[in-house]
Amino acid sequence: MDDTTSKLKSELLTLTCELGEHLTYARELNIESVDVAAGHDAQALPATIANANTRAKASRSALERNANAPMPATLPTRAPQSQAKTSAPVLREESFEKPFTETSEMAKRTTTSHAEAPPAPRETLFGEITPQDDASLARPNETLEDIRADITPTCMRCTLCCEGRTKVVNSDGNPQARLMFVGEAPGADEDAQGKPFVGRAGQLLNKIIEAIGMKRADVFIGNVNRCRPANNRTPTLAEAKICKPFLLREIAVVKPEIIVVLGNTAMKNLLDTKEGITKLRGNFQDYNGIKVMPTFHPAYLLRDPTKKRETWEDMKKVRAYLDGGK
Ligand code: URA
Repeated sequence: MDDTTSKLKSELLTLTCELGEHLTYARELNIESVDVAAGHDAQALPATIANANTRAKASRSALERNANAPMPATLPTRAPQSQAKTSAPVLREESFEKPFTETSEMAKRTTTSHAEAPPAPRETLFGEITPQDDASLARPNETLEDIRADITPTCMRCTLCCEGRTKVVNSDGNPQARLMFVGEAPGADEDAQGKPFVGRAGQLLNKIIEAIGMKRADVFIGNVNRCRPANNRTPTLAEAKICKPFLLREIAVVKPEIIVVLGNTAMKNLLDTKEGITKLRGNFQDYNGIKVMPTFHPAYLLRDPTKKRETWEDMKKVRAYLDGGK
């Protein structure tokens, strides 16, 4: 390569990088499109630049689909419910203390991130999380059915739609539940059946629910992400941020008194915290005036049954709060 070619190559490389940075800034500033100078069209640009532009536009439109009519920023509070709803619970620790030998789908999750994931909505230029965005706020008088209809069974808001998802796994359970559980994302069994927590981890969750004297039908169960990530990898922050608004709208409709967040990913996403599960588990947190109890994910308990003891301690606190003991 002669000097001129190598200089041109290096200039082109610099230009490409700069353009990439400009596009990122434009996206963060909510600029939807950039006029290409007369005489040039996107096709004529080098492939990497043209792709970056297309990706920026695609990401914007994905975000726009999420941002509908705004609503009041606070959640309506639930009138105290009669405790008769969950009658005389019998605490049964042993029912989920039995060690499981099977390995769950969730236990096989990896932490690979998606190289082409769309940008996180509503992040500031320097990456701090801004206050809850409009897409997360409940629409007036909306129902769980409205939210489900909004999501659609063919949702393509993020790239999880195209990683081999079979079904969008919507939240499930009692729409008037006092207690809600939030997980990370569906695994293989959930993807096949279209219901959250129906695999091995789900069976253990059922035992945990029964151990505090409730039935699965009493509670409401959802995930931060509704589509199964390929190879059960952990959903990226960007993927979680695209799907989370639907969960937050459901929380606003159900108005549970307590949310149990299962595992690190669910906890970090709901609470917008950088703290880890080991630090926060067992201590009530707050989400919009609702008590949040972080505890270990049942898939983790399947891998390390010795951690069931701590989960049991956390669940006893949940039971005590529901019983009015706070
Ligand atoms: N793990 C989750 O986080 N969610 C499910 O629905 C199933 C397993």
